[in-house]
Amino acid sequence: MRAVDISDGAVHAIAAVGPNQHAISGLQSLTFVERTISISKPWRHIGRETKSTDTVVHVGNVPVGAENFVVIAGPCAVESEAQLRAAAAAVRDAGAAILRGGAFKPRTSPYSFQGLGIDGLKLLKNVAAEFEMPVITEALDPRHVETIIRHADAIQIGSRNSQNYPLLVEAGRSGRPVLLKRGMSQTLKELLLSAEYIINAGGTGVILCERGVRGFDPETRHILDIAAVPALRALTHLPVIVDPSHATGRSEFVTSMAKAAVAAGASGLIIEVHPDPCSAMSDGRQALPPAEFTILMSAVERLLEVEEKVLSAPAKRR
Ligand code: PEP
Ligand code: MN
Repeated sequence: MRAVDISDGAVHAIAAVGPNQHAISGLQSLTFVERTISISKPWRHIGRETKSTDTVVHVGNVPVGAENFVVIAGPCAVESEAQLRAAAAAVRDAGAAILRGGAFKPRTSPYSFQGLGIDGLKLLKNVAAEFEMPVITEALDPRHVETIIRHADAIQIGSRNSQNYPLLVEAGRSGRPVLLKRGMSQTLKELLLSAEYIINAGGTGVILCERGVRGFDPETRHILDIAAVPALRALTHLPVIVDPSHATGRSEFVTSMAKAAVAAGASGLIIEVHPDPCSAMSDGRQALPPAEFTILMSAVERLLEVEEKVLSAPAKRR
């Protein structure tokens, strides 16, 4: 590292030039150093400065990013074959390209339904094949990753695990695309560094997801940080999508926030749909019934024309 004195009489400053990140913490620990300001970005792979064009991530054969807008939809949790088949048929008919469904559920209470585990993964694989849709499901533990990639096309890392670094590394090593949700109290810089972990470990593609941050008002489940979409797009070339279901926690607000996400420049949506929300074993309050999801999709398709984006269609509709 090379140090240059750039003091101007009023300010005593030293500019340090060089690759050694450790030297910065050394400087910070000196009692006479008030502040260190890093002018280079802390990431190597995901920054907009390294690539000005938008990255397109493929989940199965479905493109996400640039002009390709994706809708990922399905139940919060896989509950049964009948429930998953009904959800898949409904979301596919309405124009969703990727199926979602949790087999391992990160529940706040240990007494809540924890997901069907491996049986849920098998159902996902079979139903996704039947409906010719790529499928995405959440990994809670690095030990799940190997099994998940045998059953699903992409790995979801949820908000509670957004800074679980061993899980990020394992997901990256798998080489599968990763849908990385923003932690409830995670800054955008922290989220981007989580994405950097995945790519640095060998990850081929990361889709970032804004899903609401912790707020103070229980009227909605979280606060959807819609400005995170343009802010992330300015910082990174990775695709950014929005989850209006977990952000609001209320099905009657999901369509408005989905429309806001399109207008904000998002590359997609992830939405919870249940054939019978009242009987859902998790997140029923925010799940859209199929008829409402169909209305949401037509509103989104109209807005996509204004945004000059194309809806990534399910296989048979291409
Ligand atoms: C989910 O997608 O069902 C989920 C648990 O999401 P989040 O991690 O955003 O809470
Ligand atoms: Mn959920």
